[in-house]
Formats: sequence, structure tokens, C-alpha cells
Amino acid sequence: MRERTIAIVGGGAAGNAAARTLVGHGFEGRVLIIGETGVAPYNRTLVDKGLMTGLLTAEQTALPPAEGAERLLDTALGFDASGSSVRLASGVEVHFDAAIVATGSRPRLLDTAIPGLAHAVAAGRVTTLHSARDAEAIRDSLSSGPHRVSILGAGLVGSEAASLLREAGHQITLIARARTPLVPVLGRAIAEHVADLHRRHVTTRFGRTAAAFKPRSDRVDMLLDDGEAIESDLVIVAHGTVPSAPAPLAGRGLVVDDRLRLEGEASVYAAGGVAVLPFSDGRRLRIDHWDDAAAQGAHAARSLLHDLGRIGDPGPYGPSSRFSIRTHGTTIAGAGIAVPDAVERTASEEPLITVFETAEGTSTGVVGVNAARQIHGWSTKLHRP
Ligand SMILES: Cc1cc2nc3c(=O)[nH]c(=O)nc-3n(C[C@H](O)[C@H](O)[C@H](O)COP(=O)(O)OP(=O)(O)OC[C@H]3O[C@@H](n4cnc5c(N)ncnc54)[C@H](O)[C@@H]3O)c2cc1C
Repeated sequence: MRERTIAIVGGGAAGNAAARTLVGHGFEGRVLIIGETGVAPYNRTLVDKGLMTGLLTAEQTALPPAEGAERLLDTALGFDASGSSVRLASGVEVHFDAAIVATGSRPRLLDTAIPGLAHAVAAGRVTTLHSARDAEAIRDSLSSGPHRVSILGAGLVGSEAASLLREAGHQITLIARARTPLVPVLGRAIAEHVADLHRRHVTTRFGRTAAAFKPRSDRVDMLLDDGEAIESDLVIVAHGTVPSAPAPLAGRGLVVDDRLRLEGEASVYAAGGVAVLPFSDGRRLRIDHWDDAAAQGAHAARSLLHDLGRIGDPGPYGPSSRFSIRTHGTTIAGAGIAVPDAVERTASEEPLITVFETAEGTSTGVVGVNAARQIHGWSTKLHRP
């Protein structure tokens, strides 16, 4: 009898956790992790904290393959859900009995119509901060001493990068479209706290965005939408992420049911930054945090084992994992999620802790300032929205 194969496309947080869960439950078939050609999976959270800063080498950020799983570095170019196969860049076709798609996300880019952008990118003056390669290029281009760095986007990655690069001695301008960045993730009270931290430590331009770029021989001039010109040695774009999946799955993300089964497809699951999760009020959300991606990977694997008749039903997936950033010496830690229209309630003033509740009073998320211990306690009390 042919050995059963479970193909896991993507070996990052979600894919690796899925493989560990399958092996850990004693799945006796073949667990195959498919990764990108020439790119051994790594811990993406260390891209800015470790690689960009030069504190860690690429080897130190690598993710060891889950024990008992096979790993093949050969980019998945085509995913045929109904034909149960994945076409790889080498031409190999992998046939699977079940698959978990865990290909994560890619950076949201600037509008290509912005004048001068393509030239500035080609000159190495505008970059994203998502991959190990991005981080190493930033590290190398800033290695010769203090530089002027503009960061477009003050989300979690932009905020953390602003702090890390300021601590490394660079002169930072942090630019964000929102007047108070991060409100949807942290709630208004804590987002205002973070915005104040930025104002005290770096130059901020909130409520603005890039309108044009003029690369010069020794710098790039960026024109903001209010006409202000900002001279920079490097511009980092940190405008969040969009889901990334092999064709023909690519698009707005892979919509799954509450067990993380890909909608409309038998034996295919999705987890992590690529997955779009359903909630009880009919809304759908994507969660792009490391621990949550790992928890989704493990849950998708348990759903798959349940569907194979191996274990009991793991139940609906509920996000309660923790996330944190350290910016300008302050730790912002959270757990769960703030669903759109959540009611924001201040649970404590000192330390500042915000709890997100549905209209029915169910706590779905919590965020705190220098309150990691309290957030840990809260994370066990959160409910699935
Ligand atoms: C700079 C930075 C810092 C971050 N810091 C934090 C943090 O401090 N805390 C936190 O919670 N989150 C952080 N995140 C977010 C976190 O890294 C992601 O949420 C998490 O990695 C998502 O896990 P994933 O498994 O969905 O995707 P990934 O971990 O990105 O893994 C996806 C994998 O799929 C592979 N892949 C993609 N396409 C293909 C294909 N076609 N074929 C084969 N393989 C493919 C990729 O190479 C990759 O290995 C950070 C993100 C960035 C960019």
C-alpha cells in the first residue's frame, strides 16, 4: 500500500508547528515540508531584531526542521487542490493525501505609480523589511556609520525598526498615514501612548504619506503628500503584509472554516499569515503574529488528524496567543485580537492595560504597556470572537 503523504507548503511558524504536531501525534505516513528554493526557513521575528541589527547571523535565525518530517527546498509554483498535487519549481510534482498551506505573507508595497519609486528601488534607496535578504541589505547599507533613515509605516514592524535603528545611532523619521498609528491593533489609549513614545525619540510625520521620490547620487529625496521634502540615505517601507500563496490560490488570502479547512476543498487546510479566519459575526480576519501562526499550524494539523479519524475534534480555532514589541525601551505586549468594532475597556491604569470586548461583553483580546506578566494571566481568559 502506498504511504500516505501530507504536504505542508511553507516551513515557517505555521508549517513547522503543523509538522511537529503531526509527528507528535504519531502520524506514520510521510510528512513533507516544502520550502522556497535556496531559502531554509528561518524565524522571521528575528529579521529586524537579529539580522538587521547584526546581532545574529542567518545560521542563528534558521528553524531546524521538525524531527521526523522531510524537508524539500523547492518553491511551490502551482497548487492543484482538486487534483491533490503541488507543482514545484524543479518540475517535480508532489501528490498528497492532505495538505496544509502555510506560505505566510509578503510585504504590502507602495503604489508603483508613485513618481520616482522604481528608480529609487533600483538604486537601493527604498526597501522593504520582511525577508532575511531585506534585513541583510539594510544592515550592509547602514554599516558605515550614522545615516538618515525614513520609515514608512508605524505598525508593529515599523515601530520596532524605528526604535532598533535609533538605538544603533541612526537619525530616524517615522512616517505613517494614520494620525495615530496602530489603533486597530492596540486600541486608542495604548496606540496614543506608543505615538507619544515615537514623538519623544524620533522625528514623526503622522497623517502623511510618500508622494514622490527623487534619487540623488548620494541620497534619496522623498516628497510627502503635504509637499515636505525629506532627505534620506535609506527609506524602509513597513506598510504591513498581504497573504502569499502559490497560484492559483494567491489573492486575498485563503478563506478557511473554523477548523482551518480551506473552504470548498476536501483535505486542504491553511494556517498562519496566509489564512483568513472566520468569526461568529460573519467577519473574517487574518492574524500575522508568530505565536498565533504556530498555534494555527498546530490546530490545522489536529483538524486534519481528526478528519482522518485519528483523534477527536479539536474544536473551532480561537486566537489567544501572545505577541509583543519593544519600542524605545517600552514593552507593548498583547494576546488574542481586537475584532473590528470591539469595545475598548481600560482594565488597569498602572500598568496601562486595555481589554477588547464584543458588544456582548466577551473578552477577545488584551494589550498592555510594560505588563507582560499580567497579559500572560489574561491570555487564558480570552474567548473566541
Ligand atoms: C521584520 C519582522 C518582525 C516580526 N516580528 C514579530 C514579533 O516580534 N512577534 C510576532 O508575533 N510576529 C512578528 N512578525 C510576524 C511573524 O514573523 C509572522 O506573523 C509569522 O512569521 C507568520 O508565520 P507563517 O508561518 O504564516 O509565515 P512565515 O513564518 O513567513 O513562513 C512562511 C514560509 O513559507 C515559505 N514559502 C512562501 N511561499 C512559498 C512557496 N511558494 N513555496 C514554498 N515555500 C514558500 C517561506 O519561505 C517561509 O519559510 C514579524 C514580521 C516581520 C517581517
